Amino acid sequence: MKQEISFIPREELKAKPDTASLGFGKYFSDYMFEMDYHNDLGWHNPRITPYEPLTLDPSAMVFHYGQAIFEGMKAYKTPDGSVQLFRPEKNMKRFNESCDRLCIPQIDEEFLLEGIKQLITTEKEWVPDGEGTSLYIRPFIFSTEAYLGVRPANQYKLLVILSPSGAYYGSQLSPVKIYVEEQYVRAVIGGVGHVKTAGNYAASLKAQKKADAGGYAQILWLDAKENKYVEEVGSMNIFFKINGEVVTPKLNGSILPGVTRDSVIELLKYWNIPVREERISIEEVFAAHKRGELEEVFGAGTAAVISPVGELTWKDQSITINDNQIGQLSQDIYNELTGIQLGKKEDPFNWTV
Ligand code: PMP
Repeated sequence: MKQEISFIPREELKAKPDTASLGFGKYFSDYMFEMDYHNDLGWHNPRITPYEPLTLDPSAMVFHYGQAIFEGMKAYKTPDGSVQLFRPEKNMKRFNESCDRLCIPQIDEEFLLEGIKQLITTEKEWVPDGEGTSLYIRPFIFSTEAYLGVRPANQYKLLVILSPSGAYYGSQLSPVKIYVEEQYVRAVIGGVGHVKTAGNYAASLKAQKKADAGGYAQILWLDAKENKYVEEVGSMNIFFKINGEVVTPKLNGSILPGVTRDSVIELLKYWNIPVREERISIEEVFAAHKRGELEEVFGAGTAAVISPVGELTWKDQSITINDNQIGQLSQDIYNELTGIQLGKKEDPFNWTV
């Protein structure tokens, strides 16, 4: 049985930020979607309520044992002024996979998507319409039960907050410098790397800090067992174009299955460009470069959509990819995906909602 989503109005609406100053994750809209879980009641009391600070018990289990998961997706304003989402059902599905891995009770994917749509309808004035802007949607769940024993909690909160965000790139894509990390690992097979749990991001900070200090934009993670096979880049999946063929690491249980990754693969197949999902070692990538066959490298994720890689550093070797220029394929994929997301191009895949 579907529950009614109640609405709790706020007294005063906030001033909207200037589009030019948006950046990422700095501003939050007037309302959020909220729902609670209790073992005796299930998920209950769905509501659209003012965005405001929460009160939590100091012994709330999330602070101690980290049952916290999230999703990240965007709403885009189309040229006719309507608002659309990009493959949101995939985020709902991955959210439930994260729930499963962290022993958090499953959500009703359709119902949550309905709640998100209602929230965005309430907040449609917050969807920015400047070039490259979007409304970032952050659904998350954490354990709220006040208890210090280690076990799955009996109480949780689900929130969806909205943040208008600016263009990731200015007027055009720009290639980034990447550092191949060998000391720290992101995730292990059998662990939680394939889901979006807060701890994965906490665990990545130290390596990112090291990369920042070295002047690199992001880290390229290798597998935790052999420190040999490429996993992903920062919070993006990674693609290599080698001698006319595109390769991306196969999902192995420690890589996050990105929605953008899946979309890039589908698009390449649609364009009849050879694409393979397989294990690829960093050695192979450097060898392909030596043979003159490493044509393009790019990251793929919701934030930047496509992020061309211009330079890769592994141990003491640095290689420059495609003369540090934006590759044609990277640009084509970027144009196609953002065109579909923004409602400026036809959507043969029925990805937009
Ligand atoms: N890998 C990691 C670790 C991420 O955090 C993200 C962002 N969600 C991605 C890959 C890309 O996933 P998506 O395309 O769904 O944004």
